[in-house]
Amino acid sequence: MSTTTTYTIEGRTGPWELVIGLEVHAQVISRAKLFSGAATAFGAGPNTQVSFIDAGFPGMLPVINRECVAQAVRTGLGLKAQINLWSRFDRKNYFYADLPQGYQISQYAHPIVGRGAVEIELADGTTKIIGITRLHLEQDAGKSLHDQHPAKSFIDLNRSGVALMEIVSEPDMRSPEEAGAYLAKLRQIMRYLGTCDGNMDEGSLRADVNVSVRRPGEGYRTRCEVKNVNSIRFVMQAVEAEARRQIEVWEEGGEVEQETRLFDTVRGATRSMRSKEEAHDYRYFPDPDLPPLVLDAAWVEELRAGLPELPDARRARYIRDFGLSPYDAQVLTAEKETALYYETVAKGRDPKLAANWVMGDLFAALNRTKRTIEDPPVRAEHLGALLDLMRDGTLSGKLAKEVFEAMVESGKSPGAIVEERGLRQVTDTGAIERAVEAVLAANADKVAEYRAGKEKLFGFFVGQVMKAMQGKGNPALVNEALKRRLA
Ligand code: ADP
Ligand code: MG
Repeated sequence: MSTTTTYTIEGRTGPWELVIGLEVHAQVISRAKLFSGAATAFGAGPNTQVSFIDAGFPGMLPVINRECVAQAVRTGLGLKAQINLWSRFDRKNYFYADLPQGYQISQYAHPIVGRGAVEIELADGTTKIIGITRLHLEQDAGKSLHDQHPAKSFIDLNRSGVALMEIVSEPDMRSPEEAGAYLAKLRQIMRYLGTCDGNMDEGSLRADVNVSVRRPGEGYRTRCEVKNVNSIRFVMQAVEAEARRQIEVWEEGGEVEQETRLFDTVRGATRSMRSKEEAHDYRYFPDPDLPPLVLDAAWVEELRAGLPELPDARRARYIRDFGLSPYDAQVLTAEKETALYYETVAKGRDPKLAANWVMGDLFAALNRTKRTIEDPPVRAEHLGALLDLMRDGTLSGKLAKEVFEAMVESGKSPGAIVEERGLRQVTDTGAIERAVEAVLAANADKVAEYRAGKEKLFGFFVGQVMKAMQGKGNPALVNEALKRRLA
């Protein structure tokens, strides 16, 4: 499927198309850094996770961390990308106080992962393929702290040397929505893979957003790069704001200059950070301390075989095997934890009923209690047991809702709540017959009306019998008894 209408922004002089490409920095999940054994835990005290290598001491030699390489390969495989068995590390030279080496070790000419593809889903139900240009491994820098002292800046090197994956896309996106959907999909894939936690608040995932505009049908025009955007919503806002700015420049008869810009989230506008003339000359050259990175094809295949089921495959399976709608399948596979919860509930049970309970009652309970699917107020096993009690006739649908609320409050199993509250559904036909008889006797006038053709009174009788039985009558049996008596 492809989008039939291209998104445009209407300028004073006609419509403009957007062209967007993202460079995403994703922090690798790994206990140790890319070239040192120092720890990587988030939130540790300043400079408590720094080795001599991370501090840029002279004479220190970097040693590649095998797990970081495996994570990059897994991510490449998840992006259906080419894995380069031969890649190389280069020095990217620049000076910054929080980069004690004076250069960043990165992969410039020979990245570990080459071309790939990501499929995104859009709100109108269409899908689109976004090309991946490359993925390379590099070191993160430290952090300057300017708010600790009135006259001094402090440096925290905990992040220095942490492994990053830079994932570069083709300029294939054409709207803010597509840019947002792409970043969300990348994050989802990496979370499923366990290669990046995707936590944008903690800076584990951040995007440089390249934007240009053009007249429909034209080739590409000059782009600007908006640096370090740290939420999906801000990416979408930055695209829109930057596109509108460029449209105005072109329409005023000016020319968009290639430059690096920053997105001011308060003003909702981008501003210049540095122009092309001020761009760094990184003087890349192969790092003489590191041999080329050569991967064993069999090892790559081993990693491929160990990949978990990814979101697209899981979604397709839910539609195929469980008969769920594409929308339900999408919602239930959005997060791996939601999918695992759902599968526990659905196992051996009606998958659609399970989907309704998870997406309806459980999601509502999560919202209400401000809990997450990792720490839910109702365990998946308990929700499954509730569905069993409905299937075997112990609980009617109405009673099940009541039991569910009690489960949310107490965390107890449905069986325990049914016993405690005496909620067990009445399936004793004698008791049901008696209740039906009483209701019909008390409403002789309505019975006459019903028999004269006013059939919608049937619901009234059901309601009265249920009320008489405190909601515990088995609905199917109540219906049956009423039909028989009224015939
Ligand atoms: P550089 O090497 O100068 O950083 P790249 O060609 O690697 O430039 O592109 C960097 C990013 O910019 C990529 O994500 C790419 O998709 C995007 N990009 C390239 N040209 C354009 C353009 N005309 N409009 C928008 N994005 C672009
Ligand atoms: Mg670049």
